Amino acid sequence: MSKPLTDQEKRKQISVRGLAGVENVADLKTNFNRHLHFTLVKDRNVATKRDYYFALAHTVRDHLVGRWIRTQQHYYEKDPKRVYYLSLEFYMGRTLQNTMVNLALENACDEAIYQVKTYLQIFQDGGTGTCFLDSMATLGLAAYGYGIRYEFGIFNQKIVNGWQAEEADDWLRYGNPWEKARPEYMRPVHFYGRVEHHPDGVKWVDTQVVLALPYDTPVPGYRNNIVNTMRLWSAKAPCEFHLKDFNVGGYIQAVLDKNLAENISRVLYPNDNFFEGKELRLKQEYFVVAATLQDIIRRFKASKFGSTEVVRMDLTTLPDKVAIQLNDTHPAMAIPELMRILVDDEKLSWDTAWDITVRTCAYTNHTVLPEALERWPIDLFQNLLPRHLEIIYEINRRHLERITALYPGDYDRLRRMSLIEECGQKKINMAHLCIVGSHAVNGVAQIHSDIIKDTVFKDFYEVDPQKFQNKTNGITPRRWLVMCNPGLAEVIAEVKIGEDYIRDLSQLKNLLKFVDDDALIRDIAKVKQENKLKFAVHLEEQYKVKINPNSMFDVQVKRIHEYKRQLLNCLHIITLYNRKSIIIQAAPGYHTAKMIIKLITAIGEVVNNDSVVGDRLKVIYLENYRVTLAEKVIPASDLSEQISTAGTEASGTGNMKFMLNGALTIGTMDGANVEMAEEAGEENLFIFGMRVKDVEALDQKGYDAMEYYNRIPELKQVMDQISGGFFSPGEPDLFKDIVKMLMHHDRFKVFADYEDYIKCQEKVSALYKNTKEWTKMVIHNIAGCGKFSSDRTIAQYAREIWGMEPSLEKIAAPDDPR
Ligand SMILES: *Cc1c(COP(=O)(O)O)cnc(C)c1O
Repeated sequence: MSKPLTDQEKRKQISVRGLAGVENVADLKTNFNRHLHFTLVKDRNVATKRDYYFALAHTVRDHLVGRWIRTQQHYYEKDPKRVYYLSLEFYMGRTLQNTMVNLALENACDEAIYQVKTYLQIFQDGGTGTCFLDSMATLGLAAYGYGIRYEFGIFNQKIVNGWQAEEADDWLRYGNPWEKARPEYMRPVHFYGRVEHHPDGVKWVDTQVVLALPYDTPVPGYRNNIVNTMRLWSAKAPCEFHLKDFNVGGYIQAVLDKNLAENISRVLYPNDNFFEGKELRLKQEYFVVAATLQDIIRRFKASKFGSTEVVRMDLTTLPDKVAIQLNDTHPAMAIPELMRILVDDEKLSWDTAWDITVRTCAYTNHTVLPEALERWPIDLFQNLLPRHLEIIYEINRRHLERITALYPGDYDRLRRMSLIEECGQKKINMAHLCIVGSHAVNGVAQIHSDIIKDTVFKDFYEVDPQKFQNKTNGITPRRWLVMCNPGLAEVIAEVKIGEDYIRDLSQLKNLLKFVDDDALIRDIAKVKQENKLKFAVHLEEQYKVKINPNSMFDVQVKRIHEYKRQLLNCLHIITLYNRKSIIIQAAPGYHTAKMIIKLITAIGEVVNNDSVVGDRLKVIYLENYRVTLAEKVIPASDLSEQISTAGTEASGTGNMKFMLNGALTIGTMDGANVEMAEEAGEENLFIFGMRVKDVEALDQKGYDAMEYYNRIPELKQVMDQISGGFFSPGEPDLFKDIVKMLMHHDRFKVFADYEDYIKCQEKVSALYKNTKEWTKMVIHNIAGCGKFSSDRTIAQYAREIWGMEPSLEKIAAPDDPR
């Protein structure tokens, strides 16, 4: 009997077939040893696992360098249009494995990987937002990701007695082998000060300066030799910071004060779908925008475009060479900042500057939840960015003038569409600023794009319908299939359709020809079983809980938010009290989220220790949800919970990751679930609950939770258990806030979908008993995943918003390092 392949070996098989010439293993080993010796200054007797990791990272990185330099030269020579993707939420993913997959180096790194195996699993993690960068590089777009180099990323979550505790994520402590500091491109960013109006223009003076120091990270495309750049800014105090107050005591204080300026890039605000109007956050938003725009304009002026100095310096051609995509309203200040540069510094007329700005910028909306929309108090602006406030007032004056001309006398419309909200404390509505200052506005799934046109941005849609678009989100099949589930990637490639689908995910539809093929059904079921076993072992090692790998892995992984309705899942678990397992995470300082975590762990305490239930139902809360955990749990899942109230989840991307990894979805008609049902066939998903129109009708009528509570005996029983202390012995009041919310002011209408959800779960359980039918449904789902590649998403952004043409062509490879 042959030994089953390791994940490493499976990915290797895929990478080997993708290669023209096999990499020189001996060279790689030599370089690995060289780095261990010269870079890490260690020998094998004293090298730690971390040293091995760094040596390997440097070895792999060497293969990127030539391609990186060559790609940037190539862009300079060809001078294509550039796209700048601005986001406050980029942070590093697992670059090493991703680089090895994209460069087809994994096979050659064998020995080195063997040495660092366990370390690879615990080191280097990151967040989302990198899918788009991967696709932009794979599609050969001259793209740049711009953001902040946070010293502390999203906190690490610890669960102590069922309660969440947060720990700082000190990810840079041991250095980051992937980034390259570029102090030569440091930029000044101004804050505070005052505005002077002179006959020859406006001056923003007496400002405080913070320097933005760029760190570049390479972003390799999939086997096309392209390496793009993600540039993240770090705040540095200028040397002369406050030194004008120099005296002996003042000097020490001034040096200590440098820290204050550098706080700007200290920490990522972890709020998900929630706006908290903190000055430091506004500083972060302006900091990234101001530094990035200087870079964009410098690169534009230094480009080869045009044959003469005159053409090159003519900023009216900026929109032909530059696209700026605003990821949510967080970088919205790009609009007034670009206006400030064009009008105050470049001395263009307002009209010319405005035309350039609108044609350059585009805005992606990510949520319709009112608590998530950014509205910055005027006072904050007046103090921190006085010139930008003036510019926003002028943008608004002209915008309202246009609306008045279109709708004379419609004062209510003017009030609704103003960039400035006047009721109570005056605030700037950043979404309105983005819509007015952009030529394209998009939602991230069809249903969400329709909703913004019909509701929050209806007035804007009426005046500028041509601006509104949809770009359904996607995920990169490199990370979310080849990297995280090599067994499945291999079955798909080896057994049936070749491996071109990794670049062109629509080819997955070819699997439909084999949906009744017993060998394929068997192999797919086998891979899932292997992934589940592996995850069960991981759970046992990490959390000391034993789960039955033959039970259904029913998983809800996503950040905790009321609209995502983790509570609906809780009610189901209590109702059934029989099989299954769940998993989740929260933002700190968010009381309800913390209570939800406590409830889940409390349910786990009761259910997992019930000897009658035994191993038929286990409830597990996995702490510290992050990409590395998602990469483990998603390939091992049978059932994906996507149960938000219809109309609240803009798209979701977790839903797509599960679908691609062979889980079935139980979900509402919300976000991208709608399109998943369209692509795989609605009969191949477990769809339940209210549609958007039902939610609206219920709002009209008035949602009365008690009506459901009184009518549905099982629901009443569940709620009585929670409020009666069944899950909090000795502390019956522990969950009273959750109970009160569900019964009396639940914006997300959990009870209204309870009955249908329970019924739908019964259908799921029945089908799960028939492995063959279940697996056929899985194949239909995988075959329907083509649309959900971020390559498709990015190709649409490129063609329909940025005016760029994607290409799968390779560029020439440089000689690899000796
Ligand atoms: C994909 C992903 C998300 C988004 O998940 P949703 O289910 O769409 O909310 C959040 N966090 C991590 C770590 C992810 O990998």
